[in-house]
Amino acid sequence: MRRAGALAVCLGLFLTLTSCAPQRHTSTFFAMDTVMELTVYGGEGILDETEELVRALETELSVTDEQSDIYALDRDGSADLGEDAAALMERALELCALTDGALDITVYPVVRAWGFTTGEYRVPDEGELVALLDLVDYTKVKDLTLPEGVMVDLGAVAKGWTSDKAAELWRSRGITSGLMNLGGNVYALGKKPDGSLWRVGVRDPFSDATLAAVEVEDKAVVTSGGYERYFEENGVRYHHIIDPGTGAPARSGLASVTVIGQDGTLCDALSTAFFVMGLERASELWRNALSGVEAVFVTDGGEVTITEGLEGSFEPMNDYKNVEIKVIRRG
Ligand code: AMP
Ligand code: MG
Repeated sequence: MRRAGALAVCLGLFLTLTSCAPQRHTSTFFAMDTVMELTVYGGEGILDETEELVRALETELSVTDEQSDIYALDRDGSADLGEDAAALMERALELCALTDGALDITVYPVVRAWGFTTGEYRVPDEGELVALLDLVDYTKVKDLTLPEGVMVDLGAVAKGWTSDKAAELWRSRGITSGLMNLGGNVYALGKKPDGSLWRVGVRDPFSDATLAAVEVEDKAVVTSGGYERYFEENGVRYHHIIDPGTGAPARSGLASVTVIGQDGTLCDALSTAFFVMGLERASELWRNALSGVEAVFVTDGGEVTITEGLEGSFEPMNDYKNVEIKVIRRG
């Protein structure tokens, strides 16, 4: 009798839980030059609202859209910046300083010379790069005003900022579970509706396969990799992450860097900067100046190194199952 009672309680609980389980809603759209995928549990209307938010941010932050605030800033040297463009400019300049210029938003004249924003790819000659590098120095940006010839590009941080703003919107609407993938910038809100952690895939930079899964809650997972955008000329591959020191695509020995933490803008800035810095300099910065962020480094040779906070939540997959994973420790 007691057993039957317990069974009835369980069944009741099960029915209540399943009938109350929030419904899954998804959307996919193209914005900020990439495919964006949203999944939320509960609150279907939030998807359209999120897409509108993303498009509004793109209109402020895009470096190529002639209507954007950043386009006007680059053209005129000063502009009436919207709230997000102004706030992200300030934040990005702090992050340029934190990374000692490995992230440098004034690298844009060089990025443009390689054709990475227009798609008209070319290899600039040494003289051209030397002349353009004269314009690259984020410390020259004062009061959100640019000296003659200096141009900024928020492309290395804009998607991270957007993910933070979208997560803020979701929270303000009472969403407690959702996942967004803004073209390599993932943000996992809360946990899955069943109470388990989100499992986010880290891509193998050498194939379309997944290198590992990381289990997260309320975190951004942001990857920068040479494979994301590149062209080839005379058998040489040139990718889109520029070393502000040389004006050429960064050749730091890394094929990809993934950064995981609560602040999507910080993670986006760091994934780009770490890629430029290489494993050794990035580890040093991580040990000395960063807390609350973790990273996965994949070298050109396919070696994988993780920071110690990921131990236990990082699960190698496919070709990486039996590969030795090195760990960077603070001590
Ligand atoms: P991400 O995909 O976040 O690593 O950002 C790469 C994009 O940021 C490039 O497509 C460029 O528009 C821009 N960029 C490239 N190199 C740098 C750099 N060293 N600092 C800041 N922005 C950069
Ligand atoms: Mg970035």
